[in-house]
Amino acid sequence: GKVLVTGANGFIAAWTVNAFLDAGFAVRGTVRSVAKAEHLKKTFGSYGDKFEYIVVPNIEEDGAFDEAVQGIDAVVHTATPVNLTAQDPAELIDPSLKGTMTLLRAAAGQRSVKRVVYLSSCATVIGDVPSEPRTYDETSWNEDDILEVQEKGRNAHQLAKYRASKIFAEKRAWEFYEENKVSLSWDLAVVNPPLVIGPVHHHVGEGIESLNASNQLLFAALTKGEYTIVPHWWIDARDLAHSLVLSATNPAAAGQRLLVAAGPYKWEDFAAAACKISTKTVPPPSSYDPMNVVYNPTCNNVKTNKLLGMVYRYSKEDTVRDVLQEWESH
Ligand code: NDP
Repeated sequence: GKVLVTGANGFIAAWTVNAFLDAGFAVRGTVRSVAKAEHLKKTFGSYGDKFEYIVVPNIEEDGAFDEAVQGIDAVVHTATPVNLTAQDPAELIDPSLKGTMTLLRAAAGQRSVKRVVYLSSCATVIGDVPSEPRTYDETSWNEDDILEVQEKGRNAHQLAKYRASKIFAEKRAWEFYEENKVSLSWDLAVVNPPLVIGPVHHHVGEGIESLNASNQLLFAALTKGEYTIVPHWWIDARDLAHSLVLSATNPAAAGQRLLVAAGPYKWEDFAAAACKISTKTVPPPSSYDPMNVVYNPTCNNVKTNKLLGMVYRYSKEDTVRDVLQEWESH
């Protein structure tokens, strides 16, 4: 089979392309320009013609993905801006929402497509971390950030702008699926990961600011002791990529919202793992007692793990080890 991965040059997407190729699929990746495909062609050169790319300059344009979906069996949609710097929330919401809709419409016109996996986020599950203990699962929805953005617009807090962009797109994807399900050749599966970190497989330019947003958070935590966002759960990018292969191929994933998370974290956990193997990282404050940590909120994703047969291969220590190894080799 052949899989389409949108935004193939992104952090998660590059691992995803790799996972599908390793699972024996052919992959077509979309990128916004030829230049962005150069590194991918090199990275996946050993797979020969199993990897190809197509340039989709503007995912918001009607018909943008019509050519990209030709002859495709499954689609994984990852392309969307991920940043905490947008002024106008529309900078995030428009590409997220319109990009998802042009993709779903293209897939609806292509009978070879049997599964569409939309890469959503735990941003649609949980907003600001509550101070009270609370458990979230596949049925939880973050409604708060829609209100925050509707009320405050440009003055909404940065995380809310990003989270709203994911909520709008995921809700619209489910609506489209429900409205058109009877005539579609495919089922929708939605994958909702929390903080995704790990070594990189995609092209990263010079300087920390060219690293993708979630790895920048980890970098700030480990090298500066800056714990920028309130933590909840995490997953290694390579485990997420594996879960996307399962979500694209498992019949049971049809129509499911899948909460993939390896577990809860505190930034201090990653810092503690890092300072055991590197003298260049900032250890957690001495007041941090790993034996008595209370992790809140709780993620109950038993249903997802069972349904996918998902096994998380990377521990916090594994991920930190691989990330540090990479940083130190640069
Ligand atoms: P990256 O920033 O590494 O990748 C984003 C990808 O989307 C790139 O290919 C980028 O292309 C493309 N993109 C960005 N803006 C646009 C646009 N306006 N039009 C078309 N393409 C665009 O991010 P990640 O790999 O971290 O994220 C990928 C997906 O995973 C996103 O959908 C994100 O919401 C989701 N996710 C990420 C999490 C994380 O912690 N990283 C957590 C949960 C979900 P270009 O290089 O051309 O800009």
